[in-house]
Amino acid sequence: MSPKDPKTLKTDLARTAGWELAVGPPPERWNDWTELDAKAWPERKQKHYRCIPTICFNCESGCGLLAFVEKDTGVIDKFEGNPVHPGSRGRTCAKGPATINQIEDPQRIMTPLKRVGPRGSGQFEPVSWEDALADIGGRIAKALDEDRHEEIMYHVGRPGEDHYANRVLGAWGIDGHNSHTNVCSGAARLGYYTWCGADRPSPDYANAKFILLLSAHLETGHYFNPHAQRIVDAMNGGARVAVVDPRLSNSASRATHWVPTWPGTEAAMLLAVARELLERDQRGEAGIDREFLRRWTNWEATLAELERQHPDFHSEEAEPFEQFLDLLLEHYREFTAERAAAECRMDAGIVDTLADEIARAGHAFTSHLWRNAAAGNLGGWQIARSLVLLHVLTGSIGREGGLNPNSWDKFTPKPSDNPGPHDRWSTLLWPKEWPLAHYEMSFLLPHLVREQEKKIAVYFTRVYNPVWTNPDGCSWIEMLEDEDKIGCHVALTPTWNETAQWADYVLPMGHGPERHDVMSQETHAGKWIGFRQPVLRRFAELEGQSGDVQPLGGGALDQGDSRAANPGEVWEEAEFWAELTWRIDPDGKRGARQFFESKEQPGTVRSQDEYWKDVFENGVPGLPDAAAEAGLEPLEFMRQRGAFAVPYEGQERYEKEVDSGGVEVDGVRRAGFPTPSGKLEFFSPTLDEWSAEGNSLPAYQKSHVHWEHIDEPAGERLLLPTFRLPTLIHTRSANAKWLQEISHTNPLWVHPEDAGLLRLENGGLVRVATAIGHFVVRAWVTEGIHPGIVACSHHVGRWRLHQPLGAIQASSNVELHRDGSTFMLRQKGGAGPYESRDPDSERIWWKEVGVNQNLTFPVQPDPASGMHCWHQKVRVTPADPNDRYGDIFVDTAKSRVEYDKWKARTTPASGKLRRPLWFKRPLKPVEAAYYFDR
Ligand code: SF4
Repeated sequence: MSPKDPKTLKTDLARTAGWELAVGPPPERWNDWTELDAKAWPERKQKHYRCIPTICFNCESGCGLLAFVEKDTGVIDKFEGNPVHPGSRGRTCAKGPATINQIEDPQRIMTPLKRVGPRGSGQFEPVSWEDALADIGGRIAKALDEDRHEEIMYHVGRPGEDHYANRVLGAWGIDGHNSHTNVCSGAARLGYYTWCGADRPSPDYANAKFILLLSAHLETGHYFNPHAQRIVDAMNGGARVAVVDPRLSNSASRATHWVPTWPGTEAAMLLAVARELLERDQRGEAGIDREFLRRWTNWEATLAELERQHPDFHSEEAEPFEQFLDLLLEHYREFTAERAAAECRMDAGIVDTLADEIARAGHAFTSHLWRNAAAGNLGGWQIARSLVLLHVLTGSIGREGGLNPNSWDKFTPKPSDNPGPHDRWSTLLWPKEWPLAHYEMSFLLPHLVREQEKKIAVYFTRVYNPVWTNPDGCSWIEMLEDEDKIGCHVALTPTWNETAQWADYVLPMGHGPERHDVMSQETHAGKWIGFRQPVLRRFAELEGQSGDVQPLGGGALDQGDSRAANPGEVWEEAEFWAELTWRIDPDGKRGARQFFESKEQPGTVRSQDEYWKDVFENGVPGLPDAAAEAGLEPLEFMRQRGAFAVPYEGQERYEKEVDSGGVEVDGVRRAGFPTPSGKLEFFSPTLDEWSAEGNSLPAYQKSHVHWEHIDEPAGERLLLPTFRLPTLIHTRSANAKWLQEISHTNPLWVHPEDAGLLRLENGGLVRVATAIGHFVVRAWVTEGIHPGIVACSHHVGRWRLHQPLGAIQASSNVELHRDGSTFMLRQKGGAGPYESRDPDSERIWWKEVGVNQNLTFPVQPDPASGMHCWHQKVRVTPADPNDRYGDIFVDTAKSRVEYDKWKARTTPASGKLRRPLWFKRPLKPVEAAYYFDR
């Protein structure tokens, strides 16, 4: 750092003044941290806090938070970062501190509610937890007794936990786990998994020299804060960054190179870079790591496939590996820089630039791809395959500054007793048409229930709002309102959302700092766990207060369960699940109760203290020793620190010599990769067997929204709906007033050339028509978008049918007109001031709160990955005279037609197996369940 560096000056100034500069209070002072009360100024009044660590729940990064609980009042004053958390290192994004808004939200649900009018009528009345548990538990028990296991379904949006819910479903013996993943990341996962047996990348940003982001990661993407801070660290150390995104995102604005490509063509660019690297290698220049390629890919099998595909090509080389390299170049020869430029509608020089950067970085080349390119397009998973190809060619897999498999950098501890695998197979989750779907076909549920004529007796939604989040939300409304299809809908949610309007029970669950969980994420080349704990319960424990709500099952916790400390009757999920299981299996005959029964006090429900004590004592290597060194029990260590750095085995783990298993490389048995061949699968026998011709090698597949399919002169454009505003989450940010004040609308980004051609004015109303309907939104004319593409963020546009049931600061009150299969939503009013116990609610100055564009999207499941292909071909016109801001029109009859069209593209499982045995599944069943005719 130079003496003139502003950071040095600041630090020197601080030292001279005797200040301490730190990212947060040190743990030894967490029991009594003092700060001056800003509101008492100019009086210098001290406030005394207990700082209690917990975990943020506003995205999945799992950053550490410190709750500052005022000792005098027992009230949480604020949240800041936990400085000893290895992933987030004391830092948060804007959404972390805004957790306090969610805790204090005047509109949060405080008591269990039961529907009293027709479903969807908005009529609810309070119900006791006891009555709710008895009814729901009774329905589940009856379904299990009648062998209707597939009629119980738990559908989760953001899990925010790694195993407890699966433990519950495992104990019940059902194949009932449904997730949101195929509207999020399923495509990228298939691409990564088929290469290396891990379904997510873990970039070692901090040590990278070149970072290639095919998304908006630095500011607005995945693992927002932990990744962003390491990318910034690397940039400060000289690393260079390229962001491939048709939109000038916050990330792109800070990058060395902004590469705006036509969405879905990215694989053409990546394969052109691969070809360039291979050509450089043939010219004897730095380009690829031959030794890595020879040792760690299934190149022999790939050579055989290349020979099959190119029967007329003859290599001059004698050595098979050299022949492989020749054939590889031949295979990708069509991907010239000029072709890539034409496909991607970008500058041809980009290919050379990226090849230069990658060659210069060598092994210290890393990248990320998650939503956006992969999630938007037909064949998006091949973009992930093509990106990993660049790492395979350069040997930047599992090396310092390169790309790790996520499984190296994440740790999921388990308790010492776990239910075994179930033996069921739900075709509502895993239909035969999508045997390679990396997660459940969740967004198709209304179509699958209709088509398979199935019923779901008890349907839980948890941190999940499919009516608003998913494509084709009106088909969800049709399913949810039909009691022949959904017997009982239980919405587990701290706040109102669109889907909860069609619930039978709305049960108030705790926000992030009001419950227990363990989190771990692949934030960097390291491993950690973070402990989420109910902050006020811990505060009461430390202050020697005792709670008055005892577990219903008869436990004897000193502090009661989390309802004793949480606001109102808010409960934490883990305790709810344990009590519900007790109701389902009161005498233990169904085999479920044993997993939730106390071992210390048999006959009572296992408390969260007992549960986590077991996990931390038996399930986390290194933790008992670290705790003993600190003079603490492991549970107390985690309650005090909130996080632990799990011992890290280092990189290049595939090279580790092993006695058994693994794979033999040059005569030595090594750990290798968890794929069928034990190596990186360049040619994927699984894809060859289970998907359409042409998928077995990394390839370029034209997207459903390729520019050839868009009639621009006729007013068609590509709609990109996959980006997020950095201060928003999906449903949860609606109840955070600070976040809503910063960003609350989603105008349509339009390039000035398109605005001229389409006769659109900045700020004017635009009608955007999809295959099943249209929406009306305002235009924002900007050069920050690739011409031919319009973009609209999906994190706003909340709405409510019934006046009090929704976040008033973030949603519009709408009227819904139905006529047969058509839905017309028109806004009656937007946000505005309202009276509440929070005086800020009377200061709301914004009115327009965005448009729920997803309602107008048909389902577009990728035939291989099952991922919903988010990008839309739309017709963009100035609004009609009768159109109003926020109008939404949908015809679900057209949704069904679109579903059928996409289903017709699939390659259904046709052999004995429903799915490749080695493919992951949440809640994986016994092997026999994979067979059709068992
Ligand atoms: S990055 Fe995610 S987990 Fe971290 S502070 Fe922001 S919202 Fe919370």
